[in-house]
Amino acid sequence: MNRTYNFNPGPAALPLEVLEQGRDSFVEYAGQGMSLMEMSHRSKPVERMIAETEELLLELIGLQGAGYRVLFMSGGASAQFALLAMNFLAAAKTGRYVLSGSFSEKAYEEALTVGAAEAIASGKTTGWARLPGIDEGLARFSVADTAYVHLTTNNTIEGSQFKEIPDTGGIPLIGDMTSDILSRQIEWRRFAMFYAGAQKNLGPAGVTAVVIREDLLAASAEAKIPAIFRYATYASNNSLYNTPPVHGIYMMKLMLEWTARQGGVAAMEARSAEKAALLYDAIDASGGFYAGIVERPYRSAMNATWRLPDETLEKAFVQEAQDAGFAGLAGHRSVGGIRASIYNGVPVEACSALAGFMNDFRKRRG
Ligand SMILES: *Cc1c(COP(=O)(O)O)cnc(C)c1O
Repeated sequence: MNRTYNFNPGPAALPLEVLEQGRDSFVEYAGQGMSLMEMSHRSKPVERMIAETEELLLELIGLQGAGYRVLFMSGGASAQFALLAMNFLAAAKTGRYVLSGSFSEKAYEEALTVGAAEAIASGKTTGWARLPGIDEGLARFSVADTAYVHLTTNNTIEGSQFKEIPDTGGIPLIGDMTSDILSRQIEWRRFAMFYAGAQKNLGPAGVTAVVIREDLLAASAEAKIPAIFRYATYASNNSLYNTPPVHGIYMMKLMLEWTARQGGVAAMEARSAEKAALLYDAIDASGGFYAGIVERPYRSAMNATWRLPDETLEKAFVQEAQDAGFAGLAGHRSVGGIRASIYNGVPVEACSALAGFMNDFRKRRG
């Protein structure tokens, strides 16, 4: 097989090594005479696999023994938008939202269907070209009436990323890290909870990792909602209250092992910086032919977005790139332009090849 340079926004590129390992254990798992997909989710090998995946993730982010659990849930990051509000928006408490792109808006809108929610900062008036400052918004609210602050650490569609994580003091900070988890070292402990749909940095679609601190688990145990929606239910049953997406969790385990073999989060951060620089340098050296959609200080190291002088050229760029072996470069329909998603599974080589294509295209059409 000739591997395409894959810049899909999610589901996204996975390392060939991970795919091959998945294939090798697809039909028979660990000498059990059957596939993992045919095993009871309550069998020892499956229980062990799930426990090991939790350990691996906590180890990679240095949160082992720090009072956090990992839950494996379904419904994608979108289900978390609703679930976190259902679990934590108790009476007389408000969820405070930082609006930094369309996924953060979706999270906010879901919370409004459940209870009281309020936007404390928004970058919308800049067309999401900038990230809003958070400190001023935070200063206005007391711990007492705030259930949590919600932050989307990387804005997948627009291509912006928070470089610093705010200190929310006694207010639980909840992060949607779907599109940048494990791509950089951040202050994980500032979060009371963070979640990520797997299909960007953690494996194939179908499972969501939720990392949650014990105090929030205790709060969720009190929520007057169905058991299947409570985080505490997942924690006390080790994600085996109902049948979890076993195969998806296994693929995540392979992806986590791969990440550890590469050198962990520190190595991913260095690689991400190198990959992003290749693309942003091609943009910045283009004399304005390529124009970044997000202002420089806010640029994402996971999703690079840019425009060409007009839509006809943008269409030609995507088509010619496709013909040259680069997939997934059309911008999100709400933004237009070009987007290259360069998650952990995308090799440096794919980015240098794309930068080369960009330079060549500009020379021919600029
Ligand atoms: C992809 C993405 C989502 C949506 O994930 P689903 O698993 O499709 O629900 C939410 N938030 C962010 C930041 C994303 O990148």
